[in-house]
Amino acid sequence: MPASTETAEHGLYKKPVYRVSREDSEHPVILVCEHASSYIPDQLNALGLSPEAAKEHIAWDIGALKLAERLSKTLGATLISAAYSRLLIDLNRPLEAPDSIPPRSEIYDVPGNRELPESVRRYRQQTLFTPFHQRLDELIDARLAAGREVRIVAVHSFTPVYHGQPRRLEAGVLYARAATYAHGMLDGLAAHGLNVAANQPYEIDVLGDMTVPFHGDRRGIDAVLLEVRNDLLRTPEALESWTDYLAPLL
Ligand SMILES: [Zn+2]
Repeated sequence: MPASTETAEHGLYKKPVYRVSREDSEHPVILVCEHASSYIPDQLNALGLSPEAAKEHIAWDIGALKLAERLSKTLGATLISAAYSRLLIDLNRPLEAPDSIPPRSEIYDVPGNRELPESVRRYRQQTLFTPFHQRLDELIDARLAAGREVRIVAVHSFTPVYHGQPRRLEAGVLYARAATYAHGMLDGLAAHGLNVAANQPYEIDVLGDMTVPFHGDRRGIDAVLLEVRNDLLRTPEALESWTDYLAPLL
């Protein structure tokens, strides 16, 4: 169905909504970075957030794209990453989730998402959400059609302080069905002395998550969501260390 042209946001999303690198990779892993970008078109005035809040972790996963790009380069693996902020629409939430287009995120109200007309909601769904997931579907389909093995690794980061509480966890591997794959990664990270845990700081929720349940578990494909604490992804050296830890485990 073509996107409606009768919305206040028509024509705002001019730049490509995702980027795919190393599409022709032979590596089984497809890296996914749904929260790669804090970009919100200027005309939306940062959805009413202060400039500082609009660059904070609520708008994107700080450091996640850099880590995903390094893993993609090291492994030679395909990476699909989003080009718009998750505050416009969250690519890792089903469309039915209440926080698909969040009116509030952690401690911040998001005024630009309040009382959004249904036509604008649909426009964001059709313009930002659907093309990303169709493209990821196509990448998976092409590999399965060629009889190739596929694994999905979504790369995310989490904030060191959440609702005022500091977090000691350094990384989490989140999964629902891919227990063996996930625990191999966790054991490998723990062997480096890292503070890691399964399904921390969040859990995979069929109603709250998109990539792992929809593209992975539903299709019988090993899929995990990696979360690294974002204060550990701030320097090239730190990114290099995480790449070295993770690449052999994927
Ligand atoms: Zn995330």
